[in-house]
Amino acid sequence: MSKNPLINIVPKVKDNIIKDENFTNAKNSRLLLETKSTDEIISDSINKNFVLKKKNLSLKDKELILKVLESYKKKINNQSLNEDEFVLTKHEINEFFSLENKNILRYVVYRYKYNIYPRLKILEEYPPNIQIEPTSMCNLRCIMCYQSDKSFSSKSAGFMGYMKLDLFKKVVDEIEGKIEGVTFASRGEPTLHKQLDEFLKYCEGKFLGLKLNTNATLLDEKKINLLLSSDLQTLVLSIDEKNKENYEKIRVNAKFEKIMQNLELLKNIREKKYKNSKIKIRISGVKINTDQSVDEMNQFYKEFADEIALVDYSPWESAYDNEVNNIQAECSELYRRIFVWQDGKVNPCDYDYKSTLSKWNANEHSIKMIWNSDYYNEIRRLHKLKERKKIEPCNRCIGT
Ligand code: SF4
Repeated sequence: MSKNPLINIVPKVKDNIIKDENFTNAKNSRLLLETKSTDEIISDSINKNFVLKKKNLSLKDKELILKVLESYKKKINNQSLNEDEFVLTKHEINEFFSLENKNILRYVVYRYKYNIYPRLKILEEYPPNIQIEPTSMCNLRCIMCYQSDKSFSSKSAGFMGYMKLDLFKKVVDEIEGKIEGVTFASRGEPTLHKQLDEFLKYCEGKFLGLKLNTNATLLDEKKINLLLSSDLQTLVLSIDEKNKENYEKIRVNAKFEKIMQNLELLKNIREKKYKNSKIKIRISGVKINTDQSVDEMNQFYKEFADEIALVDYSPWESAYDNEVNNIQAECSELYRRIFVWQDGKVNPCDYDYKSTLSKWNANEHSIKMIWNSDYYNEIRRLHKLKERKKIEPCNRCIGT
């Protein structure tokens, strides 16, 4: 598949360290300017909660929280951190300050596992995060997305569909209390699902890191109220450009005027009815072109979002045609996330959007069984032995 001429960024090999580059707080810049005092505030708050609640924590959680407190001590004293040490990133700091006190330690443990376990290749019974796609259908055909691959997105290809509520409940029932990070996203547009209200309702009070990604083109008053009144922690709006012509060239089928109208509506409803809501709104795009600038995006969109980010491009649209590469690093996805598709198929990543790596279905197997299965471990083993080239499509992927 030949690249769209608008994509002029050379994909970078992704390292597995979560960074805050290409990220800016739209409104809350005070926190970023006063880094040191912010660190002290966070550290004090973790410590206070730890002293009060340590009796009720598991040994493992105690160990991780002490590790984070030690990391903060080092950061405050300008010392560098070791590989297993961790302080919150900018967007986590935003989330941290909207947490209820009772959830602070739970959040710190969750984010430690999300960031550090993939780096150190630590496995527990469950992954730190799960992506659940309500649907694989999408109304857009963005040029960097696998939806532009007709062998995936055409109705006759067999990949399109909607998740049944029963399957969703089965997965949620299993992972409640085991996985904190649940993202409504992956290959399709979640707001297309007619039962999204029931999906969101079923998650209420169960997860600390509930997130939904949307292209925002289908937002209307009803959907905005549904999202803002839900238990979401983060609502991500996928927008990559501030310029109409470029936006519409990237987000094929979307109309810039409609997006601006939807953002205005979202802003008004949020200000009027959900002023104290904990939900953070992030505008997040993919950097496919050297002309895109996160600072310019911030200037343009800051009244509509709390955070603006541009994530690195990966050639998803041609995952199975990209050249075989020589990357030998282990892939962090194998330790961070698991993906449940609309039909129950479970996959280690969405780079492999046609799920050639999958041997499992959540209708029949538990997430725990799949995550710890021999075949999953065999993929991890080959990665560890620097033999990912033996696996399609890991041999063509730049994720590490
Ligand atoms: S294709 Fe392989 S290397 Fe790429 S993200 Fe998926 S599991 Fe990781």
